[in-house]
Amino acid sequence: MNKATTLITGAGFAGSTIARALADTGHKVRLIDRRPHIGGNAFDELDAHGVLVHRYGPHIFHTNSEKVWEFLSRFTEWRPYEHRVLGVVDGKHYPFPINRDTLNLLYGLNLDEAGAAAFFERVREPREPVRSSEDVVLNSVGRDLYEKFFLNYTRKQWGMEPAQLKAGVAARIPVRTNTDDRYFTDTFQAMPLHGYTRMFERMLDHPHITVELGVDFADVRQRANWAHVVYTGPIDAYFDHCYGPLPYRSLRFEHEHLANTAQYQPVGTVNYPNDHAYTRITEFKHLTGQQHTGTSIVREYPQAQGDPYYPIPSDENEALFKRYQALADAERGVTFVGRLAEYRYYNMDQVVAAALAAAQRLLG
Ligand code: FAD
Ligand code: UDP
Repeated sequence: MNKATTLITGAGFAGSTIARALADTGHKVRLIDRRPHIGGNAFDELDAHGVLVHRYGPHIFHTNSEKVWEFLSRFTEWRPYEHRVLGVVDGKHYPFPINRDTLNLLYGLNLDEAGAAAFFERVREPREPVRSSEDVVLNSVGRDLYEKFFLNYTRKQWGMEPAQLKAGVAARIPVRTNTDDRYFTDTFQAMPLHGYTRMFERMLDHPHITVELGVDFADVRQRANWAHVVYTGPIDAYFDHCYGPLPYRSLRFEHEHLANTAQYQPVGTVNYPNDHAYTRITEFKHLTGQQHTGTSIVREYPQAQGDPYYPIPSDENEALFKRYQALADAERGVTFVGRLAEYRYYNMDQVVAAALAAAQRLLG
């Protein structure tokens, strides 16, 4: 790789991480995004009432990777935060992921750890092999808990049956015999102290990085003889959907501010598996620790059309992705990285790790 300018499309975690890694080693970078802001889907901002909210839904940072943690820590201080979620079933709130307290509350039991393990052993429907998300849940917690907490949430979120979705989707959610009610158990769990956008600003504040917002890749791909191109948008769009559109799941975010309400709900996120058209409500002040006389929440309504937010992990979609990936592998001078370009259900930290690895490969 020579030191002329590299074009990077997408100012989210993938594009911004590579931009910084290249700039740090003396390479000039032009980073573009068609949106009017940096940060990709992790973008946060003060709403009209002065509450820090995440425009594209709740983003909670967690990782086991010391490398990722150290890289991001160059650009932000952190606020320790462990996310907690409750699931509403028949109007009552239960700890989610399912743990021993969930069982005891739901069934009026008094199980200890061994009792909870025996309970799961009794109700589970063993599946071999475990291929789909339905298999994962039935295999671990059986049909009643599957129907109460997973079946309808998954239908809503994906517009598909759990049996059609790969195992990895439901396997994101652990099942516990202890009373740990944290959503994640990673070593590092924290929120950027001054928000994600501020962290991105600092990451991109480098004399070798030029940021251009409101610019589409299509407008610049031929503009110059780029030293290299990094593309973090949807992979099918890069190839003009030549094999047909690769499905991505979208969401509509309904933001609301409640004046003179210090707290709306007891934890950061409440999931509604069976009621409402939305999947969950998140109250941002839990995540950010902000003090304010009012509070701001967001409801997430899954939909097929709209901005691409999630790759949809099914056998059929992965087969289609592989055809695009073969084109990507043959595309000289272009690196594809990130959740949309790699069609992988990545969390933020996994995107940073993938981007650092891609930068390392580029730099030889
Ligand atoms: P993106 O953030 O999508 O960035 C890609 C950028 O490319 C976009 O800004 C887009 O505008 C731009 N772009 C695309 N095409 C073009 C083009 N042709 N021209 C110019 N620009 C273009 N992860 C966690 O770790 N914890 C969480 O709690 C969490 N919660 C989430 C909640 C929701 C609702 C969603 C949708 C995701 C969540 N994630 C979470 C995942 C996280 O958002 C992603 O892993 C991460 O933001 C992906 O970064 P990226 O750079 O790959 O993609
Ligand atoms: N899920 C569910 N019920 C819940 C929460 C999650 O069935 O109350 C399933 C659902 O299929 C969801 C997947 O588990 O898409 C992963 O959940 P996670 O909270 O990790 O999703 P994300 O935050 O990425 O939207």
